[in-house]
Order: sequence, then structure tokens, then C-alpha cells
Amino acid sequence: MTPVRAVKGMNDVLPAEARRWQQVEAAFRSTMERLGYGEVRTPYVEPTGLFVRTIGEATDVVEKEMYSFKHRDDELTLRPEGTAGAARAYVEHKVHNSEPITRWYYTGPMFRAERPQRGRYRQFSQVGAEVYGDAGPACDAEMIDALMRFLGDIGVPDAEVLLGSIGGPETRASYRDALVAALTPVASTLSEDSQRRLSTNPLRILDSKDPRDRAAVADVPKLDAHLSDADRAHFDGLRRHLDALGTPYTVDTSLVRGLDYYTRTLFEIRGAKDKLGAGSTLVGGGRYDGMVKELGGPDVPAIGFAAGLERLIIASDVAVAPATVDALVAPVGDGAVDAALVMGRDLRAAGVRCEVDARGASVKSMLRRANALGARVAIVVGERELAEGAVDVKDLASHSQVRVNIDKLASAVTETLARPATTESAS
Ligand code: AMP
Repeated sequence: MTPVRAVKGMNDVLPAEARRWQQVEAAFRSTMERLGYGEVRTPYVEPTGLFVRTIGEATDVVEKEMYSFKHRDDELTLRPEGTAGAARAYVEHKVHNSEPITRWYYTGPMFRAERPQRGRYRQFSQVGAEVYGDAGPACDAEMIDALMRFLGDIGVPDAEVLLGSIGGPETRASYRDALVAALTPVASTLSEDSQRRLSTNPLRILDSKDPRDRAAVADVPKLDAHLSDADRAHFDGLRRHLDALGTPYTVDTSLVRGLDYYTRTLFEIRGAKDKLGAGSTLVGGGRYDGMVKELGGPDVPAIGFAAGLERLIIASDVAVAPATVDALVAPVGDGAVDAALVMGRDLRAAGVRCEVDARGASVKSMLRRANALGARVAIVVGERELAEGAVDVKDLASHSQVRVNIDKLASAVTETLARPATTESAS
């Protein structure tokens, strides 16, 4: 029979690898909880219109990458990112009524029908965070600094912040006009996508990887020159706060990100270039001061970021200990299995990580399994010993063995576990 395979671009994570995921996720949670963020969990499926309105109609994500489908009368989409859903939830639950500042973080799968390659998948996971209710640049700086600490904690080498400002709506409108004026005379040299976007979403052209577009935008006016005084003050403030925190950054005036909702601050963090390639970002983020209002809420400013978990895991240098148990209960013969199951349960209740090997295997192969699992102790449950209310407890480090009464088993095992592992015989 033909085996069933996973969907292209969607990956299984088996337990040894999942331990790395857990470790990075745990470090992320710990970072965010220490900063006062609470976890938000929003649905994986949202109304398609949510993403069209926030990410923007003329973006790659919305035009080409969304998994959208009709279910009964609803147009639905598997979420391609987390910010829109979180903002929807913020508005829907009127969170602004109960607190002036809201700090949320999330982790979970996202879906984009991109061309799969290393570090780019169709189902991928992001860790991310959002702050609502603080318009000031100190908030932006604290977020970027916290991300750099987090990347340090998980051992990402050479992490580097790129910082830009895309300005507020007025800046964008004036820059849009300047860009259209500069690109219209060379429109015929642009890619087909960009020719179309010249009227729908010209800023996107700056983000194109097509060599024809790269050549055309090389000497267009820079957005930087169009920033309003308020936008510039925000950006200068952000730089001052980062300097005060001692967090290095590089200003990149050509930074544009693939989603339309950003205002003012934009940032990216790159790192582990040897493993991921130079152009690959670990983290993308920025302000989106207009989104809450756009979704029917009040005028509440916001900022957020998302990091690709798979990329963080590829980038991270932290060693992960293999899974292990403390003890293996090894029943010898059918008649010992029930007692072994009870012992296993009692040992776990006493805090011992323990597996019962009820395959009916030989003592030799059960001991081999105990060693393979990294267990310190094997409890050999023989039918004859059982009849006398006893079992054999083997210390696999010292190769010593003691016979103990079943009612003393938990203390015998925990005492063995507490002894330093030595290959000498314990008395
Ligand atoms: P974005 O939501 O596009 O700003 O992306 C934020 C981060 O998510 C990126 O820097 C990547 O680390 C990660 N990311 C985005 N798209 C993918 C993908 N298709 N596969 C894996 N990671 C991704």
C-alpha cells in the first residue's frame, strides 16, 4: 500500500526534537512572564476578512499565501500570523475598558502557502507578543531589548537589530505619492506584480526580491526624508532608549516588512547567518497604531513582534539533555505484571520517573532497555520473590543489587537516586 505522507511544507516534530522546542518555548515564556505579559490563545481559524483588512489586500500573504476556504456560509482562513487575531480579541473583549496597558504573548502554529525551504515552511510556529495602550518609544525599546536578552538566553550567536521607521499615515501618503512619481516613468521595467502594485500598493515594490524591481528602486527617494516631525521624534526617542539600554542596532532606512499594518517603528532581528543564510530574519516586528481602530475598537496604539520558532531552534546553540527516566520496573513472567504496574504507579506518585516494561522480554533485554533509557535503577520483579513480598533493586551505576520489601520500595529507589552515581559497589 502507498504510505500516507505529511502535507508538503508541514513537518512532524518527534520527541527528541520536541525537547528543543519545549526548551525554547519555556525560555520565551519565562522572558515574557518576567516582563508582565500574559498568554493569549486565539483560534487558528479566523474570518478571511480579518486578514484582508489588517495585513492588506495587495500583500504577498493575502494575495498568494493564505489557506482560505468556504465553510457553509463563512469565508475562513487558517491564520497566517498572530497579530490580527490578537487585536480582534482585544477589541471583541473590550480589554481597553479594564486596563490602560495590555501586554500579551502567544505561541502557536501559523499557515502560509510559501515555497518550502530550510527555515521556511507552510505550517510553522511563531512566538510573539503585543502591547496595547502605550504609544511611546520606550515601549518599543524595551521590547527590542527583551528580545535580545531572550536570544542570548537561548544561545543565538551574532543577533543583530535592524531598525527603521515607516512613519504614520500622513508620512506614508506623502511618500507614496513621491514613490509613484519616481517609478511611473520606469514602470515598464518593473516585474508584473510590481506594475500592478504601482497603483494598488506601491510601498510593496520596495520589498520585492525581483532583480528588475531591485534595479528600479535603487535610486528612488527614501522614505526617511518624508518622516513628519512627530515620526522623527518617536524614532529618535527609540534610538536614545536603546542607547541607554546598551542594545546595539543598525538603522536601515530601506526596511519595509511584508504586512501593511505597520506604522512608525519597524524592526527585524537577524542572526545565526551561517545556519540560516544572511537574508533570513529570526524576528520581525513593529508598531501598528491604527489596527485596533480599524477593527472597530478605540484609538489604541500598539506594537508587536513575531519570531519563527523553527528558525530560533535552528539558530539556538543550547544543548538539550535527552529524555530519560529514573527507574525501569522489569516484571519477569506474566504473573509479575500486575504487581509491576502497581509498583510503577506508586513510584511515580513518589516523584520517580519510571517506565514499566511489560513486553514479556527477558531480564537481559529489559536491563538493556533500562540502560538505553538512562535509568539509574532497575527493579526486577520475579514471581518467586513477589510471593515473599520482595523485589530486587539494581543500582545500574554501581552494579550492586539489594532485595527490598515491596512496602519499602519507594524509599529504596529514592535513596539510590540520591546517591552519587559511582561504578563502585555500594554497601
Ligand atoms: P512575519 O510574520 O512575516 O513578520 O514573520 C516573522 C517571523 O516569522 C520571521 O522572521 C520568521 O522567523 C518567521 N516566519 C515567517 N514566515 C515563515 C515561514 N513560512 N516558515 C518559517 N518561519 C516563518
